[in-house]
Amino acid sequence: MAETLGWIGIGSMGHRMTRHLVAAGHALVVADAVSTERAPPGAKAAKSNAEVAALAETIILSLPDGNISQAVAREIADASPRKVKTVIDTSTIGIKAAEAVAAILGKAGIAFVDAPVSGGTAGADKATLAIMLACPAETYERVKPLMSLMGKPFYVGPRPGQGQAVKLLNNFLSATALAATSEAIAFGVSQGIEMKTILDIVNASTGRNSATEDKFPRRIMHGRYDAGFTAKLQLKDIKLYLENARATGIADAIADTVVRVWSEMDSALPKADICEMYPYTRDGRGQGKG
Ligand code: NAD
Repeated sequence: MAETLGWIGIGSMGHRMTRHLVAAGHALVVADAVSTERAPPGAKAAKSNAEVAALAETIILSLPDGNISQAVAREIADASPRKVKTVIDTSTIGIKAAEAVAAILGKAGIAFVDAPVSGGTAGADKATLAIMLACPAETYERVKPLMSLMGKPFYVGPRPGQGQAVKLLNNFLSATALAATSEAIAFGVSQGIEMKTILDIVNASTGRNSATEDKFPRRIMHGRYDAGFTAKLQLKDIKLYLENARATGIADAIADTVVRVWSEMDSALPKADICEMYPYTRDGRGQGKG
């Protein structure tokens, strides 16, 4: 049997990613603040995050945000007894939080791997996530086979937060593409052109992007608004991008607008999937222009 692994956070991503670890023969001990019901069959449900730290040398996190990752890191560092030697955080938490988590764990002699992922729930299902790893090179070589079970690992650099930087800039681009494409398609449709015709042409032209190639043809065109990623969670990512870009003095005019557009949608439709950006835009983004 392969190494027993710990996993904290059995949510939309976590319950899908853990299945590949079990399929590869790993024993798994899991914890979740709400429920571990979605954990793969055979996984041991721990009563606390500290219990996971007592039972596994390597723990993977899939948690909602940076404050929670820091709180969980403290619980892991304070656990007694404690077996854990490496913590890999696949959550999107931003640069500062990744640095803070690394510091909390470092003080306790625990290695930290900043490892945000991209590819959504479909990528988690199919084990095709892009996994952006920032940690010392020798740690990367050690964790690479494990992370390969869930997708394609990329080595970003040695510093915690560098994985977050790539993840955030990617999600900024993805959110921009979806918001901009929603405006462009709404315009095209208003000219009496079929959505499919517009998409076929754009996808053979220079305007193609992740929304025209994936979200529109696979979901939105069929009235399915089910990317499995809420606008609220995406907003967290692009706000973090804006905050981090602003702190470096990098140009942020586009990011500023994109954050405003997604914030307005999240206020109007608090539980929306990101794909709902299209009908929301088409109908005038809540301004009665529909
Ligand atoms: P989620 O909210 O579905 O899952 C998070 C889980 O963490 C929940 O089950 C929650 O109960 C648990 N949790 C919260 N606080 C906890 C604590 N203190 N101790 C233990 N468990 C706790 O979120 P998700 O969609 O699975 O996303 C997880 C992370 O992955 C996020 O950082 C997100 O930004 C990132 N991400 C999500 C997607 C996506 O498509 N959903 C894609 C890429 C990256």
